[in-house]
Amino acid sequence: MAPSHVLRCCQRVLAWIPVIFIALVVCWSYYAYVVELCVFTIPNTGEQIVYLIIFHLSFIMFVWSYWKTIFTKPANPSKEFCLPKADKEQYEKEERPESQQEILKRVAKDLPLYTRTGTGAIRYCDRCQVIKPDRCHHCSACDMCVLKMDHHCPWVNNCVGFSNYKYFILFLAYSMVYCVFIAATVLQYFIKFWTLCRRKSAENCPKNQLPDTHAKFHVLFLFFVAAMFFISILSLFSYHLWLVGKNRSTIEAFRAPVFRNGPDKNGFSLGFSKNIAQVFGDQKKFWLLPVYTSLGDGHTFPTRLVNIDPEQPTVDLQPSIKSTIDGPANPRPLSESQNRLLGNDQHYAEDNLDRDAIKTEGDQTVTVTMESES
Ligand SMILES: [Zn+2]
Ligand SMILES: [Zn+2]
Repeated sequence: MAPSHVLRCCQRVLAWIPVIFIALVVCWSYYAYVVELCVFTIPNTGEQIVYLIIFHLSFIMFVWSYWKTIFTKPANPSKEFCLPKADKEQYEKEERPESQQEILKRVAKDLPLYTRTGTGAIRYCDRCQVIKPDRCHHCSACDMCVLKMDHHCPWVNNCVGFSNYKYFILFLAYSMVYCVFIAATVLQYFIKFWTLCRRKSAENCPKNQLPDTHAKFHVLFLFFVAAMFFISILSLFSYHLWLVGKNRSTIEAFRAPVFRNGPDKNGFSLGFSKNIAQVFGDQKKFWLLPVYTSLGDGHTFPTRLVNIDPEQPTVDLQPSIKSTIDGPANPRPLSESQNRLLGNDQHYAEDNLDRDAIKTEGDQTVTVTMESES
């Protein structure tokens, strides 16, 4: 076995460590809550039943959405974004970037593309040998191009992108619900254990105190761990809700997608409610379930060029855009307007925030791997 292959295998195994860590913490929290708190500590049967029912509901939703985030494969560009064989051979033979761009432009003419690189070129991944659809980026951790890539998350050992973004948001939401419920119900027993009496039997202790049993350790830690996770997830969850409302990915929040008129951070924003529907679907009854309901195919996205966001100031829409479309009331379908965008050779200045930008997610550091697009 080649050393590089062994190294790659080791990396793949090690990448599961954060997931295993989370899984172990969740298993322990289940045991500590159900057995040590509900069975051994809470004396009232009614309280036990109510706590156990709500706990299991939040536990199931949390594990379900976490599972779906981890095991939903990232979506890749379809075959029509690959260069035909003859063009690919020609592209590889060409050494001049201008000639390579001509080949890409010829192929991209029939593809629904709105965005370009910072220099106005067609976005192409040399590693996957594919023309990148709008919002698609290459992830070096997964070694593939991922549709509407948001970021590569080590806590789920998976790319968060078009195929699992809804699951990821729900995973954050249900982990917060799980932590809040645990912390809120454990609090009174946490206080009682602080003021515990040194006797082993409950009958000999005053009413507001609990005996010094092994449950003490679990209940005290349960509160600390739940509160700590809640605080660290809160900022990340709020940030992603904000991104959903703006219809931006984490990558796009760092580097605005480049359209015909240059970079536009609100380029994919369609208005708050439509932005939410893009991720969660248009049927509200499925919003809270980790089942697939996101709109679109991940390759093409409605843009402000053809769908005016009523909540964004229209001053951003330069006259050149207005000349390409009939107006907000009469948006053209994607395929009609794409060729005009592709025919534009104008070059745009852009910050080259390209390689391996690091983003901190609350208290957790997450690598957002981005390819060079200069
Ligand atoms: Zn790629
Ligand atoms: Zn990835």
